Amino acid sequence: MDNKTENPSNENNNIENNLGLDPERLSMLDDQGHKKVIIPAEVKGFWRNKRDYFYAVLILFFLILPWTKINNTQTILLDLPNRKFAIFGVTFWAHDAPMVFFVLAFFTIGLAFITSIWGRVWCGWACPQTVFIDFIYRRIEKWIEGNYIQRRELEKQDMNFKKFIKKITKWFLFFIVSSLIAHSFAAYFVGSVSLTEWILSGDISLHMTTFLIVSSITLVLLFDFGWFREQFCIIMCPYGRFQSVLMDHGSLAVLYDEKRGEPRKGLPASADGKKGDCVSCNRCVQVCPTGIDIRKGLQMECIACTACIDACDEIMEKVKKPKGLIKYNTISEKQNKIFSARSLIYLSILVLSGISLSVLLYNRTDVHVALLRATDSPYQIIKNNDGSEAIMNHFKLHIKNQGFEDKKYKIDIPQEFQNLNLDLKIPENPVSVKAGSDKTIHLFIVFKKDILQKKGDLKLRMHIKDDLSISKESTDQSKDFSLVGPS
Ligand code: SF4
Ligand code: SF4
Repeated sequence: MDNKTENPSNENNNIENNLGLDPERLSMLDDQGHKKVIIPAEVKGFWRNKRDYFYAVLILFFLILPWTKINNTQTILLDLPNRKFAIFGVTFWAHDAPMVFFVLAFFTIGLAFITSIWGRVWCGWACPQTVFIDFIYRRIEKWIEGNYIQRRELEKQDMNFKKFIKKITKWFLFFIVSSLIAHSFAAYFVGSVSLTEWILSGDISLHMTTFLIVSSITLVLLFDFGWFREQFCIIMCPYGRFQSVLMDHGSLAVLYDEKRGEPRKGLPASADGKKGDCVSCNRCVQVCPTGIDIRKGLQMECIACTACIDACDEIMEKVKKPKGLIKYNTISEKQNKIFSARSLIYLSILVLSGISLSVLLYNRTDVHVALLRATDSPYQIIKNNDGSEAIMNHFKLHIKNQGFEDKKYKIDIPQEFQNLNLDLKIPENPVSVKAGSDKTIHLFIVFKKDILQKKGDLKLRMHIKDDLSISKESTDQSKDFSLVGPS
């Protein structure tokens, strides 16, 4: 995608210049290169309604999610300082790098797959930048400063008392909303329970780092959502830069139907006397939050917000022409093919990542146990107090607690082997292992020599389970081992 695509004709350039749209300049800059305040006109219509419902659901999710729990852990927790993560009940630690890799790969390739089919649907429908600005900040602005015409007038005025009061009220409300969003955002990283405790304690000095982080996020949001706005999409967003790589001619985009619209009103009719349906009302430009003219073709600045579709449909209705002069369409104007070569490649990688992730998740337990024979001599012969001989086998038990709670693990030999009178010697039983850490303990099994003589190669089993007195859920694991001695 070029920054600006070619115009249908030089006459179009003249019209654009008359409308204040310089085809060679970014829509958000004035002729001096300074930021131009873009105040998009309000729009109503089919897509606007759909977006409003969708935005409301997303904002609710964003606010509620940190307060919900699955498997007794916060539904989404990205605790970077402690390097522990929880995603929908599955807990990860930083040492779970393969799992984290597959989670990230799944989401990244998923986004690439969606973009290859539905274009910038993320930008227009789900990006927090668009969702918060459109659903909250612009509403506050309209509520305090009036509709887009009144706001444009206000912008032109020199500072006066009325303007000052409006601006200060608006920025105060922006600050409250930014602070709420920043706190919710922080809850994903430090945990909602900890955050609430810290706030209620009222002692900022105890949690100065978190306080500074939340304050900084509030200021960044205030700057970005309150003032910088869609400039972020055009100048800074890395995903926006990737669009042209991820999309192809089969991808969906918000597009102007040039064949139907041109020659637009104000331009000479074509050779066969045909006039296009575009009435040059400029309404599609007026509603555009990035200030572009969609009639110039697909542009990098378009965030696919669909505002121009609703705006143009409204005009078409008024001039009694069919709707859809601006609509979702593929760049090639052929039906959107889900399984193009590109989307198939993305889909294959997505399925592979999904399968790998599922296998890792299926095999994952809150506790990982390994029982190994110690590397010294395989057995020792020891003397009992009564002078008789017994055999001792030495094992190393490695326990890794992968959950978010400190655990105690009880080690025993199942009932079915009790008649063998095995003597299990462990320095500590149950074994305490802190959340996210591991421990290796040495254990010894002492047994009578005649056990081996009677049974030959003796296979046994050992149980390692959560100590139920301190944990609600039990993670029972069993490990097979064999006893060895002199033949
Ligand atoms: S061109 Fe249309 S879809 Fe694209 S950003 Fe502007 S209003 Fe939104
Ligand atoms: S809103 Fe529709 S009719 Fe009006 S200028 Fe845009 S494309 Fe043309």
